[in-house]
Amino acid sequence: MAKKLAAGNWKMNGTGADLAQVSALIAAHPAPKCDILICPPATLLSRMSDAAKGSAVKTGGQDCHADASGAHTGDISALMLADTGASHVILGHSERRADHGETDAQVRAKALAAQAAGLIAVICVGETEAQRDAGDTLSVIASQLAGSLPDSCTAVNTVIAYEPVWAIGTGRVPTTDQIAQVHDLMRDALTARFGDADMTLLYGGSVKPDNAAEIFAVANVDGALVGGASLKAADFSTIIAALDAS
Ligand code: PEP
Repeated sequence: MAKKLAAGNWKMNGTGADLAQVSALIAAHPAPKCDILICPPATLLSRMSDAAKGSAVKTGGQDCHADASGAHTGDISALMLADTGASHVILGHSERRADHGETDAQVRAKALAAQAAGLIAVICVGETEAQRDAGDTLSVIASQLAGSLPDSCTAVNTVIAYEPVWAIGTGRVPTTDQIAQVHDLMRDALTARFGDADMTLLYGGSVKPDNAAEIFAVANVDGALVGGASLKAADFSTIIAALDAS
């Protein structure tokens, strides 16, 4: 059985005052069945990791460099993320692929670095609206998985997030049949390549308190990567409870 995970991506949101949201989350979920992860901006990572120490809440970065150290102004290595107490790192988010031109090959190199540093890589894939309209969704996902994942991936060091680009931050969500189609393809492709049927597969894209239960009922959906609704403890808490109940 894949481990269930409720992951929050705070993106470029949050300052010290928002650590109160994490304290509230910790208090609300002393012993969850699923894993809980918050990926704050890098400026908050050490403080959040300290605040979450000994609780059920894990922390993660939103990106890392493929090198362990060096002359890369403004970048952060996987080792540095691990040094803050983080356990995970999001890689290949569509906003990084779009804003920074990240390719599958770069995501693969970053995943290798993350795994070498002992981090769990949360690798994102997803089609644009134009690709879906052209009927290319499944081939795009298969190709991103093939190109973005190193051969070293296992269910222990890797989580996959399917995030249709057109559903992120838009309030639009694929039908449960559309989610199932992609998650079934991902499970089959990953099992065929890695021989490991237990990799955690997240859905991401406008997951909210009122649609989470329906999404978690879809086969091969083991949790969610949540943007906007992870910023407030009350909303994220409802999503975590839905995952625990699924
Ligand atoms: C995301 O950016 O990973 C995401 C899923 O955002 P939202 O939940 O806000 O659509």
